[in-house]
Amino acid sequence: MIRSEARFDAKRKKTDYRKTQFATATYRENDYPHRLSLYDVPPTQEISLEEFETWAIDRLRILAELESCSFRNRSPQETAAHMQPMLKKYLPLSNNTAAAAGQVDQRLKDERRKDHYSHYILRLAFSGTEDLRRRFARIETMLFKLRLEEDDGREKRAFVDSLNLNWDLVTPEEKRALGEELLGATPGIRRLDEENWFKVDWTRVPELVEHRRVLIKKGKAYVPLKEQTSMILTEFTSRLDKGLELTARQLPRLDEDDRLSPILDHLSKNFATPDAGFSDSDSSLAGAAINAANIDALSQHFPLCMKHLHTTLRQNSHLKHFGRLQYTLFLKGIGLSLEDCLMFWRQAFTKITDDTFNKEYRYNVRHVYGDVGGDANRRGRGYSPYSCQKILTEHPPGTGEAHGCPYRHFSVDNLTSMLQATGVHDREVLRGVKEDVEKKRYHIACNRVFEWAHKGEIKKVKDEGIWGAAELDTIVHPNTYFKRSYLLKNLSDAPKQDVRMEG
Ligand code: SF4
Repeated sequence: MIRSEARFDAKRKKTDYRKTQFATATYRENDYPHRLSLYDVPPTQEISLEEFETWAIDRLRILAELESCSFRNRSPQETAAHMQPMLKKYLPLSNNTAAAAGQVDQRLKDERRKDHYSHYILRLAFSGTEDLRRRFARIETMLFKLRLEEDDGREKRAFVDSLNLNWDLVTPEEKRALGEELLGATPGIRRLDEENWFKVDWTRVPELVEHRRVLIKKGKAYVPLKEQTSMILTEFTSRLDKGLELTARQLPRLDEDDRLSPILDHLSKNFATPDAGFSDSDSSLAGAAINAANIDALSQHFPLCMKHLHTTLRQNSHLKHFGRLQYTLFLKGIGLSLEDCLMFWRQAFTKITDDTFNKEYRYNVRHVYGDVGGDANRRGRGYSPYSCQKILTEHPPGTGEAHGCPYRHFSVDNLTSMLQATGVHDREVLRGVKEDVEKKRYHIACNRVFEWAHKGEIKKVKDEGIWGAAELDTIVHPNTYFKRSYLLKNLSDAPKQDVRMEG
């Protein structure tokens, strides 16, 4: 399904016979008559490598946000309201009614094609381990449910009919004939004209049978229509589970493809903690006094990782190499100029002379900013501030080092003490953080604390429509934490700005 570039084609011609198995797919265009899909048929049309990667990243962004909604116990209504603008932006899926004269026009086809391909690409990325498969199936089912519930009634019926699920609608005559039996076996329904039923093999609804919520007769279960959604969801999950098992068995063949393996590897890592990029515009914070003298005051807006580095620096008048690197990059990311950054470090290292500072530390700070160093140093722009993913997964701190993420690298007791020292005393929040950390959801714990510390301001921007859900998505970059915190706490004088790093 990938359109290869010329150099890849040349290389593929020489590949061994086993790789030709990938070329045996039948290429045909999907016409996507329905908005929703159970993803039974894999896509076989060509797409570019760029589409392959960006579509997958867009879907991953949606799945990660949905998962974090469930981690934070958002109600279905809150989740739907939160997700709607993000879905519209990254993975739109319009109803047929949005097309002219009921035709599935090109825009609808493009949306459905992206949805179809991105689902299958992530299947490849997340079928490697049982844990990933389980998580992927769970969140994909959540996404499917969200879309199913907001589907137009007529289209939903047409979609369900198209599934050929062998559900026989019970005729009015049969309904009347069963009468009291049907009512007696279906809790919550008092009159026959209140509901319709359909028949399926009883083995397909084990949960309903187990909880005695359906009538069983001659091997058939009589299921009320109101249970249809949950049955479709069960069908969706069970087909996806099987599909993922099959994909897992095919995976070793993909290892031979040096174009896709790195992309898939990157995607599966992103599932643990979504990654975020950083561009120069992310550091602009209109009206903020970002200078060396102001860092102590600004540190109230820092996430715990950077607060810890700042406090350690103030206590020891020194930070070790990785701590200096992580912190310098962050300070650069909040918009601190090179001159101010040099001044900040010089003043912070009170126990050394100017001479030592100039010899041992000045160069590194300039290098991070791209002021010195060769072409490799990102053509004069220096290095990008670290994302949560990088901090969580690379260079764990050793003894005496202060870099890393406290949610990931501190013991629960030390983390709790540190949170309390920074003013987090709410027992419910601390309990939630402990649970998140035990389940290895480090960035969710960080977001939990952020939401608690800014709950008044978040309510205000939501209630007054100042910020949309996209501006309040899950934080996955320390610089987003800072920028969002600063803007929320200075709402009256801050113009509207984008508060996210690039995903
Ligand atoms: Fe810092 Fe990210 Fe850890 Fe929060 S989750 S403390 S922002 S590394």
